[in-house]
Amino acid sequence: MNFGYREVCLDHDTGARHPESPDRLRAVRRALKERHGVEYVAANDADVDVVRRVHDPDYIEEVREFCADGGGNWDADTVAVEATWDAALAAAGLAVWAAEAADTDVSARDTPFALGRPPGHHAVEDDAMGFCFINNAAVAAQAALDADADSVAIFDWDVHHGNGTQDIFYDRGDVFYASIHEDGLFPGTGAIDETGAGDGEGTNLNVKYRPGADTADYLAAIDEAIAPAIADYDPDLLLISAGFDAHEHDPISRMRVSTEGYGVMTERMRTLADDCDAGLGFVLEGGYGLDTLSDSITTVHEVFDGYQPMEPDDDVSEDARDVLDDVAAQGFGSK
Ligand code: ZN
Repeated sequence: MNFGYREVCLDHDTGARHPESPDRLRAVRRALKERHGVEYVAANDADVDVVRRVHDPDYIEEVREFCADGGGNWDADTVAVEATWDAALAAAGLAVWAAEAADTDVSARDTPFALGRPPGHHAVEDDAMGFCFINNAAVAAQAALDADADSVAIFDWDVHHGNGTQDIFYDRGDVFYASIHEDGLFPGTGAIDETGAGDGEGTNLNVKYRPGADTADYLAAIDEAIAPAIADYDPDLLLISAGFDAHEHDPISRMRVSTEGYGVMTERMRTLADDCDAGLGFVLEGGYGLDTLSDSITTVHEVFDGYQPMEPDDDVSEDARDVLDDVAAQGFGSK
């Protein structure tokens, strides 16, 4: 796996007590340093014109000015410093690189993973929120569509719902958005009956699980609903909005995905991309335990290096089964 990385992403300094800190990237880099075959790629900044294709130009100008004036609290959780603008453009550029470098050869050891921050999936068309300013995955999807892709699927396995990504593409048919997220967490969106509108009807799939869902529950959502729906949609590009805050030891969620579980989900995404003959690329979102984040990303990397992760032997929970029945009632799923 090749990792996109820019030093400037460390300059988005959110302060000592903020969970979305530069230490996240430092920890991942430290962990990957001990592994073989890790290549770093320094992508260019995202083209502001492409950013304006998914965000309101006035909003983008507002962010630029807010940072140029020294930043501060955009809202209670979303903090900028002067360097945040540069970091955000770099992070979006890394995501664009991941989309461009996504290879349809899913055994590819050079599968791209954009290790940027600030994260993106909560940023809506005209507002920053949830630590996010520019929606990196959305910019990457738009860049791919503007290049040669006819359709893009984004699977968001971050523990929070990617309200921004859903919002930006909700009424568009050229992007399929799927998410698994924890009920009761920020931002509260992502109901199962939010399935898209207009041209986008049927291209938005939410699996909202109650706290405590584990790897087996995540795999059931993938195997029964998300993978079949995306295979049916048949995108040219599959982007993973890869947050690792559903990890069983992440400090801010109550989900119970194991480190190994991220490896198994990665395998599933390889198979899915292969089935669709789609390129596959990863874009970092959340993940707030430094060790769990580093271990999980290392496992994703190892899967592309030939490691075979262990399938869990737990049964799917009854809670998850109920949710998947509701998802199937929306037309997604085999049951
Ligand atoms: Zn998250």
